[in-house]
Amino acid sequence: MECYNCGLKLPADADRCPRCGQRFKPREQGPAPAEKTSLSDRIKGLFGKPQ
Ligand SMILES: [Zn+2]
Repeated sequence: MECYNCGLKLPADADRCPRCGQRFKPREQGPAPAEKTSLSDRIKGLFGKPQ
């Protein structure tokens, strides 16, 4: 790939241009973390459990 700011050739996985400092969009990240929700749900379940 080339830096779209200064045209410097960069490796395809570069996330930043070493010449001009232009940052590129990060590649696709993993799926949105859903663990927090499920964890809080589990805690809610623990505390909200009638005994
Ligand atoms: Zn650049």
